[in-house]
Amino acid sequence: MKTSIATVSISGNLKEKLSAISDAGFDGIEIFENDFLTFDGPPREVAKLVRDFGLEISLFQPFRDFEGMPKPNRARAFDRAERKFDVMQELGTDLMLVCSNTAPQALGGIDRAADDFCELGARAARRGLRVGYEALAWGRHINDHRDAWEIVRRADHPNIGLILDSFHTLARKIDPNSIRAIPGDKIFFVQLADAPLIDMDLLYWSRHFRNMPGEGDLDVVGFMGAVAATGYDGPLSLEIFNDQFRGGSPRFISIDGYRSLVYLMDQVAKLEPDLKIEPVKMPDQIPVNGIEFIEFSANETEAEELATILHTLGFNHRGKHISKDVELWRQGDINIVLNTDRDGFAHSSYIVHGTGVCDIGLSVADAKATVQRAQALGADIFTQPVGPGELEIPAIRGVSGGILHFVDNKSSLKDLWEKEFSLQQTPAATGDCGLKSIDHIAQTMNHEEMLSWVLFYTSLFKTTKLPVVDVVDPAGLIRSQVIENASGSLRLTLNGVENNRTFAGQFISRRFGSAVQHIAFTCADIFTTAAALKTRGFQPLQISPNYYDDLDARLALGDPLLNQLRRNNILYDRDENGAYYQFYSQIYGDGFFFEIIERQGDYKGYGATNAQFRISAQKRNTQRTEHL
Ligand code: MG
Ligand code: MG
Repeated sequence: MKTSIATVSISGNLKEKLSAISDAGFDGIEIFENDFLTFDGPPREVAKLVRDFGLEISLFQPFRDFEGMPKPNRARAFDRAERKFDVMQELGTDLMLVCSNTAPQALGGIDRAADDFCELGARAARRGLRVGYEALAWGRHINDHRDAWEIVRRADHPNIGLILDSFHTLARKIDPNSIRAIPGDKIFFVQLADAPLIDMDLLYWSRHFRNMPGEGDLDVVGFMGAVAATGYDGPLSLEIFNDQFRGGSPRFISIDGYRSLVYLMDQVAKLEPDLKIEPVKMPDQIPVNGIEFIEFSANETEAEELATILHTLGFNHRGKHISKDVELWRQGDINIVLNTDRDGFAHSSYIVHGTGVCDIGLSVADAKATVQRAQALGADIFTQPVGPGELEIPAIRGVSGGILHFVDNKSSLKDLWEKEFSLQQTPAATGDCGLKSIDHIAQTMNHEEMLSWVLFYTSLFKTTKLPVVDVVDPAGLIRSQVIENASGSLRLTLNGVENNRTFAGQFISRRFGSAVQHIAFTCADIFTTAAALKTRGFQPLQISPNYYDDLDARLALGDPLLNQLRRNNILYDRDENGAYYQFYSQIYGDGFFFEIIERQGDYKGYGATNAQFRISAQKRNTQRTEHL
């Protein structure tokens, strides 16, 4: 599998782009003409620069408004093409992309276009060059790859072939299986892009909202399966026009791009097992059994504050690490680790970000396989020296610096707690408040980072993503997206912020980067748990009485239930499958909080409609604490 990316997909000057593309592992680039025109040096210098980065130019693009031109525009179109052929020869690339004509004066007619391409093929052949024809979704006469293929077929010239672009086919809802009938050797190049499903003008959608395969909603896997069935074995190239990517870090966008192609071909190989597809070898997507632990880094004072909060939540101190300043708190199946050690990753995370979650431990089917898959997808492996008696727990770095550790039942990892901790032998003191497990972990990030996280989690783990939901903060929108597995043992809510005046935005600006902002625990009976927590001194986040009036108006819950909710500051939601109860802790530190929930029946959501009430209450909560 040869990978490539159009230079237009990422930000920076040509040198910065090439450096990022090369580091991410790509084999080649599509050179976008403007990137070359704005470069301060002759084509030969560009060619050398590309070679120096270990890349090749797989394609020169775009050449516009060529076919079907009336005289005298037709002659001029050929003259322009010859000029670009000169440039291509100096650049050292043999393939030019011609996209379907959008000019108002262009004439229709399959045969007329085929004649033009036949002549262009002859001219290209004289120089040892090739030309590929791509149907733009908004082309004046040609906007469907089936028509573009008919033109290429009738042009019947060995130097003329077809270029396919997943966006143009899928955005127009053309069945990608129509590609299967095209001979693979007549497909000269394949461009790949995904996009979120938005009902808008095709040109605008394409120029601003494309994203990496796997980040959007289009069936790029089905498209690529059809392409692979033709026997096509040329480059797979990303052509992504996206406003965010153009303003983002070329390095991170390139890493995402490479990951998206590796993941795509992994899926295509499974979809089309009879084809000879050679994806990057790696274990299958990893099933997650659950969240094994959550680790906070803190200094001694803040660790004590956190311990107090955990105590009021019904957690018990259950052990101390054999050699480090690390304490284990437990309730139900929940393990919370407080790390105040002056060595290691937790401490460096504390120095940079302050008190907060620095590490998440996931229980997976196979910890070693998880790291292998992550590595194949371009993630960084994390290691740090282990002390005597400590286990080597496989780990990787997340998208922006946090760590994920993996444990399984296969090896010594299953005895992690017994081996690394001196556990208290006596049974836990009373005070358990009925918290059973972690329902979800909410990570806050800049909106621009969200797609990276989505791709990171969904490509590595056996999970699905739910549609993006808008959450209203009085100071701006938060875009929220859930990633979960089928059993619900892994649920992550990703919250993308667009400004730092929102409650979530303030949190990540104080934390200097994306971070876990809340952790939700499940319980079997919300009212029993709320009562038990009260006896431990827990103080819930105060919800406005207006919320309960509105709830009554909307759902007519009846006074007894409504009063119970109101008294305990519990928020409520329901869908056709069940009900959801939730209440929150007061906020801690930079804006971190805990949530306690109960799911009744088969309720699938996360109480998104309640989020705005929670946020307003938290903003009042912040003002109160800041005035103290
Ligand atoms: Mg294209
Ligand atoms: Mg939540």
